Amino acid sequence: MFLCVKSAKIAVMSEKIHLQGLTKDELIEFVAAHGEPKYRAKQIFSALHARRVREFDEITDLPKAFREKLGAVAQTSTLRVESRYISEDGTRRFLMKTHDNFPVEAVFLPSESRDTICFSSQSGCPLKCDFCLTAKLGLLRNLTTGEIIEQIIIVLNDVYGVAGETPHGTNLVAMGAGEPFLNFENLIKALNIMSEKDGLFIVPNRVTVSTAGIVPKIYEFADLENRPHLAISLSAPNNELRDKLMPINKRWDLDELFTAAKTFEKSLRRGERFTFEYVMLGGVNDSEKDAQDLADLLNKHDLRRVKINIIPHNPAEPLEYKPSAPEQIERFQQVLAKNGIDSYQRRPRGRDIYAACGQLAAKTQPNLVQIVR
Ligand code: SF4
Repeated sequence: MFLCVKSAKIAVMSEKIHLQGLTKDELIEFVAAHGEPKYRAKQIFSALHARRVREFDEITDLPKAFREKLGAVAQTSTLRVESRYISEDGTRRFLMKTHDNFPVEAVFLPSESRDTICFSSQSGCPLKCDFCLTAKLGLLRNLTTGEIIEQIIIVLNDVYGVAGETPHGTNLVAMGAGEPFLNFENLIKALNIMSEKDGLFIVPNRVTVSTAGIVPKIYEFADLENRPHLAISLSAPNNELRDKLMPINKRWDLDELFTAAKTFEKSLRRGERFTFEYVMLGGVNDSEKDAQDLADLLNKHDLRRVKINIIPHNPAEPLEYKPSAPEQIERFQQVLAKNGIDSYQRRPRGRDIYAACGQLAAKTQPNLVQIVR
């Protein structure tokens, strides 16, 4: 269990309780308030999370009268899937809408060894990273705990079927729309609920949270007793360039960010490393000098247990950046390697359906629309 969940506030949506966003203890309180015994909470939790049921009528181990009562005061499914796109590489993008009509996107990335679900923490994003399409939406609103969890359930049901087992090894990455650390409490509560053994059972070790550099939350995250992995989006080796590419740098500059990263490094478990993500923009941040500056920065802060995740830029209008040439990425990596720094490239996935990194902007593609039930 994550220890930082300070509040046990129950998420109320449209005046009905959103049950998927309740912890087991909150569910016990909820059923008690409706005159039901504790074991009803266990039944509901297991139905919603382990069996991934989306409607009260399908929780047939509850008496019909109680299901009707639940329907009047609570809800299980608040997100609706508007469209689903399947890439030629097998990636699936889900465009959903909240009850108040805000877009939410999640992406399923299949792989032979382990499938990954990339989910959103916010609708839109308030940060203005210059290379990211989501930034163009601005912040629409934070997602609730229940909405964060529902995304995962919808994707799992689509891929593996309702009530299918959550395949062992499914990874989660908080790298969809939004800055996760600006919705910290809801995110951590959602991860906490999803880690429950009698629920989805997606343990923190299979989860990575990516931040653009909300420095105070990096310290808070480092202090979680049973925390997921961390990735920090960097994309520039000096303040001048990072101010332009990722304006959050004007609030917390590289020195503050790397000082926080050093503290985080001290919290790493045996064998664990953390990641700096570096979006490669052709002719902007991909020179050998940029690579050397990056290596110098890591050395200056004595960061040793890191790896650099190189993300080839995913072009999308109206963004003006171009991806780096593959040979240039190779040269960049060689400089890092000479300095003893590990790096690897993330293979672009789902570019044709606007599902790739930095492309989530609630785009609809009429020719490809596939509605999911
Ligand atoms: S890269 Fe991430 S943090 Fe930056 S604007 Fe896009 S979604 Fe927000």
